[in-house]
Amino acid sequence: MRIAVIGSINMDLVTRVDHFPQPGETLRSEETGYFPGGKGANQALAAHRAGADVAMVGAVGADSFAMVLRSTLQNEGIDISGVAIRGTTSGLAFITIDPVGQNTIIINPGANQLLTNSDVTAARMVIEGASWLLLQNEIPWSVNESAIMLAQELGIPVILNPAPAFIIPEEIYPLLALLVLNETEATAITGIAVSTPAHALSAAHNLIARGANEVLITLGVQGAIHLCRSGEIFMLPAFPVNAVDTTAAGDTFIGAYAVSRLSDDHAAALRFASAAAALCVTRPGAQVSIPKREEILDFLAHSPASDFADI
Ligand code: ADP
Repeated sequence: MRIAVIGSINMDLVTRVDHFPQPGETLRSEETGYFPGGKGANQALAAHRAGADVAMVGAVGADSFAMVLRSTLQNEGIDISGVAIRGTTSGLAFITIDPVGQNTIIINPGANQLLTNSDVTAARMVIEGASWLLLQNEIPWSVNESAIMLAQELGIPVILNPAPAFIIPEEIYPLLALLVLNETEATAITGIAVSTPAHALSAAHNLIARGANEVLITLGVQGAIHLCRSGEIFMLPAFPVNAVDTTAAGDTFIGAYAVSRLSDDHAAALRFASAAAALCVTRPGAQVSIPKREEILDFLAHSPASDFADI
């Protein structure tokens, strides 16, 4: 079972401040941490920890972060032969957090923005034979498009997580096996304000009408809803857990879902992904909070059978 991911690889630089600085103000921060991240790398890790062989295609810079970013993936056991090095900075996210937990985030895409269509072509060997191709929106859209075309040619189903959201060209929808998005992205893309399962269902119908084969909308603590072209609907409330940090919940959900959906049981896949994401939110941090397969199975074994809800 192998999953290919083409997407972003970032270093998150997180620092704590007692207030956000005004223009011209110099501020002393309390502590700073360096955390590997990026939606592509997070989803690759999530899929790998959930039990799949994973190949990552992306780009890092020619800076000291690059080595850490590459080795983080490699040490985990992910194939990084498709990770290119570009003569610029690695993707960086500058995150400041204030005492009440609000944050400001500045993203410098760096090398992620220099990923090219030729990188996708060059990675054909690692993409070929994969059971899924996972894509997000943190690399140039033209690269995603060429990846979708290559996947078509190779007969590999594509999961697109359009995050951050922007309008997907209409002709792309029929080429997507599955669209996975959160409330914010669903709202931005469909124009339907999504805050409840009923709204999410309307948004999912909208995306199916545009040609997507299946749509999965995550609703944070409200859970997730899955709509298939056949009209089949699954609505699973989130597992009740003590959430301390929801960073990477969506990425964990997607990676785990991709692994579990390699079998054809839609309900079981949703349950597995929800369990993985529930475990993720009980722990602080991003990649460190992504659970391993044994932990997910253990969590499921000790959870009451989840009730799929009506909408
Ligand atoms: P994103 O991280 O993209 O904003 P969501 O917030 O929708 O994604 O969360 C993704 C999934 O993580 C949800 O569908 C749910 O399964 C799980 N999740 C998120 N928040 C919680 C929570 N407070 N308790 C339990 N599970 C949660």
